[in-house]
Amino acid sequence: MVTRGQLEPSPAERRAQEQIARRLAEIGLVLPGSVSSRRSRCGNPGCICHVDETRQHGPYLTWTRKFENKTLTRALSAEQIERYQPWFDEHRRLRQLTKDLEVTPESAQAG
Ligand SMILES: [Zn+2]
Repeated sequence: MVTRGQLEPSPAERRAQEQIARRLAEIGLVLPGSVSSRRSRCGNPGCICHVDETRQHGPYLTWTRKFENKTLTRALSAEQIERYQPWFDEHRRLRQLTKDLEVTPESAQAG
């Protein structure tokens, strides 16, 4: 008699996994990291930016990514952000798809 192994996916899980695999195959280049926009005061104490918060400099766009325990930060132009946006979007899709593949110890034992 064949007993089902604990880690063998159910037919529904297998279908879901195959669907994810098809979507993963369509993923293009990805650019991990996050983009933030910040305004700031400059070093000139006489500048209006120190008096009026609405006159701070910027916005400055920066891209940040953790890589091998270091934080990488780059200043990006709005044009660069626009150009890289598809790669950021792809990375988000990739993250979601890999998350969809994850099982918990509970769901793995449920089978
Ligand atoms: Zn200033």
